[in-house]
Amino acid sequence: MNARWPEALVANPLDAWISARLGGVALIDHQIAMLVETVAWAKQRSPFYRRLLADVDERTLTAPGALHRLPFTTADDLRRSDPPLLCVSQSDISHVVTLETSGTSGPPKRLFFTPEDQETTIDFFRHGMSVLTRPGDRVAILFPGERPGSVGDLLATGLQLMGATPILAGWPHDPAATAALLQRERPDVVAGAPVAVLAVARNSPSLRVRSVLLSSDHVAASLRTSLADLWGCEVFEHYGMTEMGLGGGVDCDAHAGYHMREHELLVEVVAPDSGVPMAPGEFGEVVFTTLTRRGLPLIRYRTGDISRVLPGTCPCGSPLLRLDRIAGRIGGGNGGRTMAALDEALFSRPEVVDFSASYRPGMTPTLHVDITTLPGSGDPEALRTTLTAIPVLAQGVNLSVDVVADGRLLTRVGKRRITVDNTA
Ligand SMILES: [Zn+2]
Repeated sequence: MNARWPEALVANPLDAWISARLGGVALIDHQIAMLVETVAWAKQRSPFYRRLLADVDERTLTAPGALHRLPFTTADDLRRSDPPLLCVSQSDISHVVTLETSGTSGPPKRLFFTPEDQETTIDFFRHGMSVLTRPGDRVAILFPGERPGSVGDLLATGLQLMGATPILAGWPHDPAATAALLQRERPDVVAGAPVAVLAVARNSPSLRVRSVLLSSDHVAASLRTSLADLWGCEVFEHYGMTEMGLGGGVDCDAHAGYHMREHELLVEVVAPDSGVPMAPGEFGEVVFTTLTRRGLPLIRYRTGDISRVLPGTCPCGSPLLRLDRIAGRIGGGNGGRTMAALDEALFSRPEVVDFSASYRPGMTPTLHVDITTLPGSGDPEALRTTLTAIPVLAQGVNLSVDVVADGRLLTRVGKRRITVDNTA
């Protein structure tokens, strides 16, 4: 937490927005007041929090370090929802998101939002996007947006409020068709998931785009570079998740970490095993507390993401907390690292549109990689050579590669990962 918000310092549009929202109150004082309010609200309204926080007197939360004595909440608490975390009646809820847990058969996580909770997200999208968008810009949205309250829908509303024109293209199931749409619409800015945006860019290399916002998944350096080369654009990244209310933080044009919306999210990094707070610069698990959420507030929610608070001040001068890129997942083992290595290697090849990977354990474990390339390209042997050059695949893994030159997007909405095939 920053001690004081420097009176005159509005280094980027996020600063200007947050400074205005604080209305002269120091950020830390605002955060503590909102934390006290959130804990009191949760205890009063939710059976889950009444039990979890039974021993917590919210009036003592103003003491230094008191936050760190609050218990954590986890994804399992959300999945069980017994007793429920929800703090309002169902009739006060305007949007529900169900998140299936990939790789397990457990119950899904369900997140509930009131209209006010969604207004907060729109407000963040409006001001977060203004880091890379100007009033009058045309902005293509490649996130799903058909459903009211979906990420594409809220982003479109936020953009309209800032005076930009949203073009809701939706998820690019057919990248060539989305590329043709973008050629007609000539957007200044494109927002979407990393692989989805790259797939469209591979299909429209003559398009010129000023800025791109990538969100919802790991961004390989090779993907970022390819995108910047194809469209001549500046690439910005956003970090957030449904549990955060979609929005979290965005990097500025210094590209030196995500500036978090700290007046609405209290962000910590803790040691995964002991839960002890980590010093800036040290890697640990990202934990956050929602400070304004009414439907389903999350208190010290463990994200499972590994990152660190970047020490020092951003070159842009903003006093906001900066989170580094996500370095992996707690308990992710080698899966995350291998996926990142595959991303890095495959997206450096100009013909690769997308890929998916599955791992079959056994005496000789096999990694099967399906690759789609632009029509008329994709030499399987060359791609296999690219893969065998990856150190993590060099030994003990049988590699099987399928290449289809149909330019299709294999990736679906959400985080990409290596699936594990236990059949056989
Ligand atoms: Zn900055």
